[in-house]
Amino acid sequence: MTRPLTCHTILALCEQLAQWRAGGASIGLVPTMGALHDGHLSLVRATAKRADKVVVSIFVNPTQFAPHEDFDTYPRTLDTDRENLADSGAADLIFAPGGGEIYPPGFATAMHVDGPALGLESDFRPHFFGGVAIIVAKLLIAALPDIAMFGEKDYQQLLVIRRMAADLGLPIEIAGGPILREDDGLAMSSRNAYLDAEERKVAGQLNLVLKAAIARLRKGDAIREVEVTAETALKAAGFDTVDYVAVRDAETLATIEDLAHPARILAAAKIGKTRLIDNMAV
Ligand code: AMP
Repeated sequence: MTRPLTCHTILALCEQLAQWRAGGASIGLVPTMGALHDGHLSLVRATAKRADKVVVSIFVNPTQFAPHEDFDTYPRTLDTDRENLADSGAADLIFAPGGGEIYPPGFATAMHVDGPALGLESDFRPHFFGGVAIIVAKLLIAALPDIAMFGEKDYQQLLVIRRMAADLGLPIEIAGGPILREDDGLAMSSRNAYLDAEERKVAGQLNLVLKAAIARLRKGDAIREVEVTAETALKAAGFDTVDYVAVRDAETLATIEDLAHPARILAAAKIGKTRLIDNMAV
């Protein structure tokens, strides 16, 4: 079992990575907000296959939460995360900075992202991708990994980060890993811990509804009709609010009229205060 090192400062991270690089090692980075589950660990393992040394960052990033969202209550489980990463045998370093290390007093820089960031999540969380872009840019610049791995669970986020890294000319491969799911299809998420037993049953319907929608799309049903039917099905299943069910171009997230190019179905819905997202290839 490899016990990963832990660094709390950017300087300590850079010093350790410089040593590894001097020895010829390639570096992989997996950015997370902690409360690690098997979905996160699958990304760590996938990265270990592609890089000699794997850094997992754990930082609950305040700039991607709106004031009314769950920043204060987001699960923080660093000791358990460290054990799980040690058990995985795939992580070499945990980068767990404090808030002041990432956003020192006087911090006054923001990022504006466009393109794949427009619509979907941004319609409901307008602050979100700007916050994601600044933290991921900071992590990428600090670690300068050869590869950085993100989950398709946050599909729009993956496309936004890919665009941002390309636009900034960062010489880093942005890789995507498949979604890990519970037995009933619910995408693993740190936020699933908020669900009580009843809500957990409802949550499992999200993926089933997406699968049913995909079956209809493949049969040739009209995209707009399928989106509306899926929204209705989610409400009937017990979701309190459906933010969107949308069938989009898989590369650009542009709206589409047919399935001539690869497409993705994406959804976001709330049970009580818990907001869940999911997506699948059509
Ligand atoms: P988070 O800690 O929620 O910010 O997620 C950190 C990374 O893990 C992101 O790249 C997510 O897309 C990815 N991730 C979260 N849940 C899953 C999952 N169920 N399967 C695969 N990757 C995931």
